[in-house]
Amino acid sequence: PLTVLYNKNKFYMDAKKNIEKELTFTIYSVKLTNLDSIGKYVDPKLVEKLISRIIKDFKDECKKIKLYSYYDDEFIVMTFPQCNHTEFIVKLGEKYASSFKIDSFEVRLPMKVGVYEYLGGKESPSKILDKARIAYEQASEQEYGIYFYSKKIEEEMKEIFEIAGSIPDAVKNKDLYLVYQPKVRLEDNSLDGVEILSRWDRGSKKPVGPNVFIRIAEEIGQIKEISQYVMENAFKQIAKWESKNIVMNYAINVTARELLDVEFVEWAEDLVDQYDLDRTHFEIELTERVLCQEGDKLTSILKYLRSLGYKISVDDFGTGYNSLATIGEIPFDILKIDKYFIDRLDRMEVRELIKSMISYAHRLNKVVVAEGIETKDQLDYMRRLGCDMAQGYYFSKPLLSEEFEKKYLF
Ligand code: C2E
Ligand code: MG
Ligand code: MG
Repeated sequence: PLTVLYNKNKFYMDAKKNIEKELTFTIYSVKLTNLDSIGKYVDPKLVEKLISRIIKDFKDECKKIKLYSYYDDEFIVMTFPQCNHTEFIVKLGEKYASSFKIDSFEVRLPMKVGVYEYLGGKESPSKILDKARIAYEQASEQEYGIYFYSKKIEEEMKEIFEIAGSIPDAVKNKDLYLVYQPKVRLEDNSLDGVEILSRWDRGSKKPVGPNVFIRIAEEIGQIKEISQYVMENAFKQIAKWESKNIVMNYAINVTARELLDVEFVEWAEDLVDQYDLDRTHFEIELTERVLCQEGDKLTSILKYLRSLGYKISVDDFGTGYNSLATIGEIPFDILKIDKYFIDRLDRMEVRELIKSMISYAHRLNKVVVAEGIETKDQLDYMRRLGCDMAQGYYFSKPLLSEEFEKKYLF
């Protein structure tokens, strides 16, 4: 009713007729990304006016365009091959993405458009619509723009579904395992400790790294199970090493959600006690991005953990949106400079930036670690700048515990 357009059932009927008549057509799925917020925070009456305005723009462009409503903030546009409207839609998107006046308000109405061209053949109307919607789903981080369907995107989406669906079993079946990457002190190349990283053995299926499966696990609410699994196994291994009088530091990656979960923190604390581990040997790594988004909420728990002896490490520093000034407000001990900068040491601006990061961190009495060192030149350079420690393939890739023991311990 809000859009005064036909609904999606009418779209299915029309599309079916066209398919039967062997007509080709193009589907644009138009999603108004902030319409909901405008209704909530600006003025609900504006929503109707904005929608009518966009519908009018489409009708003015071409009488043959067919419009259907899908949700309040999403509609379907069907066009025919005689006319190509892509350019018009790109321009329309740009127009609404910049702010404009309506009534007494200044608003923006960014839209994400997914495009699928039906070129004939056996396809159902709902599948056709799915394809246009999949097309804009690829731009989950973007606010607006036009995105085209491709087989590759559909496969990627399918893979994400597949990964999400098999995470619970991966934990249950113990298909996850741990690897250990050494961290080296630059003053004498001695071993400072290891970072513990998880891996997923997917058998014959395509491997996926923690960058992918940890993010998906977070989104689907499975991260706690993974973290508990990682910690149980890591602590068991650490206890073994400690029983052999090996003293080193252990860096564990966590997400904000775990630290904000009181039960989880208590559970982990109990486990540390059970294994009788020394808390001062633990480094809790949180990415700078997370610290930047959830910093305020995390401050008190970080202070508490530090008071128990744990060290806090800011991971992937430089990739979030902190400035050197705001990072000082977060209670931490170690700053890990992201590989992004190490890869760009040939650029003067990057070298100057790293110099400032190191001298700032040192003034605050923090330890600086360079991540992703792959060459001797990178290592020498970071050492000259006064960086304290380094981690990277130049020293070693993450290793299985037995491999690590052979190479570094016994
Ligand atoms: P991170 O904590 O920044 O870990 C460093 C990543 O860089 C690791 O990737 C490591 O294998 C890789 N790396 C280290 N040195 C080099 C190098 O010289 N060259 C290159 N190209 N790569 C290098 P990995 O193991 O794929 O982990 C990716 C990210 O996933 C980690 O980034 C961490 O944020 C997250 N992660 C891994 N395991 C866990 C986990 O058990 N729990 C949580 N919450 N996050 C995890
Ligand atoms: Mg890390
Ligand atoms: Mg990192």
